[in-house]
Amino acid sequence: MNFNDTPDEAQFRLKARAFLEANAPRRERGTQPSRTVDRDAEVIKSAKAWQAKKLAAGFAAITWPKAVGGQGGTPIQQIVYAQEEAQFVTPPGVFDIGLGMCIPTLIKHGSKEHMMRHVKPALTGDEIWCQLFSEPAAGSDVAGIRTRAKRDGDNWIVNGQKVWTTGAHFSDFGLLLVRTDPDVAKHKGLTMFFLDMKSKGVEARPIKQVSGGAEFNEVFFTDVVIPDSQRLGTIGDGWTVALTTLMNERLAVGIATGILGVEDFLALARSSHLDEEPAIRNGAIRDRLAQFFVESEGLKYTRYRMWTALSRGETPGPQSSINKVVSGKLMQDLASLSMELMGEAGMVSGEGPGNGAFQRQWLGAAGFRIAGGTDEILRNIIAERVLGMPPDVRVDKDVTFAQLESARAKR
Ligand SMILES: Cc1cc2nc3c(=O)[nH]c(=O)nc-3n(C[C@H](O)[C@H](O)[C@H](O)COP(=O)(O)OP(=O)(O)OC[C@H]3O[C@@H](n4cnc5c(N)ncnc54)[C@H](O)[C@@H]3O)c2cc1C
Repeated sequence: MNFNDTPDEAQFRLKARAFLEANAPRRERGTQPSRTVDRDAEVIKSAKAWQAKKLAAGFAAITWPKAVGGQGGTPIQQIVYAQEEAQFVTPPGVFDIGLGMCIPTLIKHGSKEHMMRHVKPALTGDEIWCQLFSEPAAGSDVAGIRTRAKRDGDNWIVNGQKVWTTGAHFSDFGLLLVRTDPDVAKHKGLTMFFLDMKSKGVEARPIKQVSGGAEFNEVFFTDVVIPDSQRLGTIGDGWTVALTTLMNERLAVGIATGILGVEDFLALARSSHLDEEPAIRNGAIRDRLAQFFVESEGLKYTRYRMWTALSRGETPGPQSSINKVVSGKLMQDLASLSMELMGEAGMVSGEGPGNGAFQRQWLGAAGFRIAGGTDEILRNIIAERVLGMPPDVRVDKDVTFAQLESARAKR
């Protein structure tokens, strides 16, 4: 197998690098810029300007067909661009959810009118989208959602609550999964809509995080009116539509780049001291460094397998689950040991390399291990699809959602 760029890919890489060199500062080793999507209007403004610039240069929506405003490029070109962009300091990924998950869902399940109205403003950075799936009692088991939509002529009236909605506070539109029929099995009574986040009755309340930021929200719906024309897919087929979004989410997480890795840890181990000698000479540190290196190499080749599948037009299978389980833990372990090496400074946010880059990575790693499939859910996938073990016991298969709810209430 040849892991080098093909001549076309090498040319694309040079083009991407030239664009980045001309428009963004280079990232220094050991400095992972904050990519949080918080409440600062200036950050959103700079992210929008960056998106417009990327589009104009031909580096936005690389894999989308030209007919919908994309570049008609290959998944490998997308990966090459992401690898290059990770070497530069760029604004946070305000558009990751919209362009990575919501708009691809709209393109697959929406009408021509939906596409004409919404794809371009999302691509140019004028409109931001969020994903309204998770609820307090439905995360891994997203088909267990309770937010209800009831038909009222040409409209639907929505009541309920979502949680962990990244960027709801600055989003223009949201992709919303609701229950339209509680009297069928839980996966069968769902319907997908999109809505204007400024609709009457929508309230986004911030959730304060341990990192000090507030990227997420609880979103409450009180008698929110959504026209039936904003339905994606047929009534009761929301699960099929949601699977498109979730599949895109898995892939987006699978190709995440730009985290602090072995090289960054090595640089820190060389520059810090332990027992009055450079930490890199300490046997225990060298042992952990070797372990990080082995895991990183394993991840590298797992990603090559994912990319090979993508380049053949296939959907990567359980490799993306393996990649996420291992990289989430590696991110956390590497940042944790780095913070120990930094002594007292490691406990203070903003201290040390990259103004607290390891601390930020450590705080963010817990969320990474939950979002887009928790470690346990991904391990279930690996157990079933790779190891051929029996699937999870399903007690909710042959009952209606209403029966499940009444059994839950009696407990
Ligand atoms: C950074 C971040 C961003 C997010 N952004 C969004 C967003 O924009 N929109 C949105 O809709 N949601 C978002 N989420 C929510 C995310 O999708 C859920 O947190 C995730 O699906 C897990 O659901 P939960 O938090 O309800 O945990 P639960 O599903 O309740 O899980 C609790 C624990 O039980 C374990 N568990 C659950 N089921 C099983 C099982 N079958 N077998 C073994 N163990 C199991 C889990 O692994 C976990 O440890 C985000 C979350 C994070 C962390």
